[in-house]
Amino acid sequence: MIREECGVIGVSLSRKGSLEVSYHLYYGLYALQHRGQESAGMAVFDRGRVKLYKEMGFVSEVFNKKLDKLGGSAGIGHVRYSTIGESNVKNSQPFLINHKGKAYAIVHNGNLVNYRKLISNMEITSTSDSEVMLHLIIGELRDERDITPAISAVMGEMKGSYSAILLVEDCVIAFRDPLGIKPLCIGRIDGGYIVASESVAIDTLDGEFIRDVMPGEVIILKDGEIIGEERVIELENTAHCMFEYVYFARPDSVIDGRSVYDVRRRIGEILAEKSNIDADFVSPTPDSGATFAIGYAKRSGLPYIESLIKNRYVGRTFIMPEQNERELAVRLKLNPIKTNIDGKRIVLVDDSVVRGTTSKRIVRMLKKSGAKEVHLCIGCPPLISPCYYGVDFTTKDELVASKKSIEEISKIIGADSLHYISVEDLIGAIGKKREDICLACLTGEYRVNYHTLTDVSS
Ligand code: SF4
Repeated sequence: MIREECGVIGVSLSRKGSLEVSYHLYYGLYALQHRGQESAGMAVFDRGRVKLYKEMGFVSEVFNKKLDKLGGSAGIGHVRYSTIGESNVKNSQPFLINHKGKAYAIVHNGNLVNYRKLISNMEITSTSDSEVMLHLIIGELRDERDITPAISAVMGEMKGSYSAILLVEDCVIAFRDPLGIKPLCIGRIDGGYIVASESVAIDTLDGEFIRDVMPGEVIILKDGEIIGEERVIELENTAHCMFEYVYFARPDSVIDGRSVYDVRRRIGEILAEKSNIDADFVSPTPDSGATFAIGYAKRSGLPYIESLIKNRYVGRTFIMPEQNERELAVRLKLNPIKTNIDGKRIVLVDDSVVRGTTSKRIVRMLKKSGAKEVHLCIGCPPLISPCYYGVDFTTKDELVASKKSIEEISKIIGADSLHYISVEDLIGAIGKKREDICLACLTGEYRVNYHTLTDVSS
């Protein structure tokens, strides 16, 4: 399983002193839970002070019985999976720093690739790049400068991906890196505004999606109003992460003007056109393969039949260390429907292949259940290069496609055939210009200076 490194949310309301903000943050984080399951937290501003609560665990566990103590008029929240920084509560978010009598809190999704360089003259309490970002911004606030110019100055120093939200007293300040690598959007809710990683958080609050926060833009919310919107850096091109469309984001989200569901369905259709497999039915790897498989079935004319059922209650589980961990995780998560599988030729559609080990176990499971043939179709082109922008495949070695051909991978997995969507077809399915999409893990072409990337990978 590939894990995302965070979901962020910020809420500003005109009504003060109620529990609305914390409940809105809670429901929004609940909708973003898929973006991080290690820890959750929120910071709210209430009558002159910031209250912070964060803990390891799922949103529903962390805030159980705590929400009634978190009233306020503005707040920010976070769900986390770690890449930079260890997985412990000290590194969970929001981060809070008191500076000259004022509290500053931050939540962040992304990765600063020049993190090590940036901390060289800094005293920090954690190993998280979000704290570094907050120190940099506060450093630029010397001379009582406004927040927007301070963020603008910091954007010039930070390299990498960041969709971040600050809470400074009762102001919620959202900003996005100039390449717009990670998603961030804004919506209207009853009595105020919300900014969040994905539009599903706005939907959950019965809000109205307004737009994506633009790359390099700063938006300031206060008392339930937008009081500032400025695009402080505007580059010729963006670098929206293709993996949001393929895997990370929920299919019911709309990211940078594209419905994730529609992109995945189109990918499935293209896979059907290009692979042209003679089979009895098409089946998804639950749940992430479902929308691709729907597109595949529609275009190929093959019936859509489930062959694996997911245990929806698998979350954090006590599993034996190391060796058996992934094997057991697959068995706990997926169970075959033998009556559907026995004697059948199956097109199995999945989102991506990272190490190949999960695909291998699934194909083995289907064959053990009597499948005559298993043809694997993958909605993401071969991953050949690490991601330095906040996804947990950070070395080339762990990517099977970096060293093996498609035929070799097919053999390792035990599939009767293996078909990937091509990079060009993926770009076509997303419907954006090639220059506006990050494809670095597929092509090895990074959009920030490589010398800073080696700081992180070393
Ligand atoms: S390298 Fe891949 S996973 Fe990382 S941001 Fe770019 S497209 Fe997304």
